Amino acid sequence: MSAVDRLTVTVDTDACCAMGRCAAGAPEIFDQDPDTGTVVLLDATPPPELHEAARLCADLCPCAAITVTEA
Ligand code: SF4
Repeated sequence: MSAVDRLTVTVDTDACCAMGRCAAGAPEIFDQDPDTGTVVLLDATPPPELHEAARLCADLCPCAAITVTEA
């Protein structure tokens, strides 16, 4: 896996099924809305040390609601 300087995270709250895996896996990047449980993006451009966690959350999201773009 190659290291990149910048990684951008986007979320699709309409697709999110409020499972909360992302908030548990990377609480620095994701939270959940206290009322609906849907994802809240805390950091769209996380630092390099969190890139692997961001990728993993995107891979593991059961609703494919997280997109990671590397540049
Ligand atoms: S893991 Fe996916 S479905 Fe679950 S809260 Fe996060 S974005 Fe939503």
